[in-house]
Amino acid sequence: STTLTLDGFVRWLESFRARIDEQTAYLTELDSAIGDADHGSNMARGMAAVMTKVGESPAATADELFKTVGMTLVTSVGGASGPLYGTFFLRVGMAAGPVSECDAAALAAALRAGLEGVVARGKAEAGDKTMFDALSPALDAMDAAVAAGASLEEATAAARDAAATGRDATEPLVARKGRASYLGERSAGHLDPGATSTALLFEALAEVTAA
Ligand code: ADP
Ligand code: MG
Ligand code: MG
Repeated sequence: STTLTLDGFVRWLESFRARIDEQTAYLTELDSAIGDADHGSNMARGMAAVMTKVGESPAATADELFKTVGMTLVTSVGGASGPLYGTFFLRVGMAAGPVSECDAAALAAALRAGLEGVVARGKAEAGDKTMFDALSPALDAMDAAVAAGASLEEATAAARDAAATGRDATEPLVARKGRASYLGERSAGHLDPGATSTALLFEALAEVTAA
């Protein structure tokens, strides 16, 4: 389809939640190497709370939906990832506005507003070994695809692939933000947990736009 509807947004969240649930132990294992071994459980708890809230009070517009998602993540996840993912979704919703669907260009713009929220909150830059390093290249790839006239499915597939490449590229990096930065050089040689969960977010998005 050429647009992602409200139902599609909810399926995106469901698919992200399912991936987080499947990979909770893996995400926590990654965080045990360079953090405090809670990224999987943080994200699983947050997305469980999100799906409960979304089920209880169905939204009529994208801004309402993503406001609920963002607020729920901020309030239910104690770690850094709660406010960061929460701010991401809050900004995505504000940028999307009171609409019931988004085409590829509108979706790309909304997701970029989300990235800007993450940066405003956490001050991460490229190469700091954070979720930024999956998110930012994903959105660059999505923008490039949209500019080249790609379909929604193609643009989100490009974003998914770039997020995975960005995730993999965090392995050799020395962390400069978050708990992993306390390890200094010892943080090198491990994937960043947040970049890994962000790659799952884009796997989920590409899956729903292809369905
Ligand atoms: P905590 O570090 O509080 O235990 P999590 O383990 O849930 O929280 O999340 C850790 C992830 O958060 C990191 O892998 C990184 O991707 C992300 N992160 C941490 N600090 C920042 C930041 N300042 N900007 C962007 N992302 C960050
Ligand atoms: Mg942690
Ligand atoms: Mg923690």
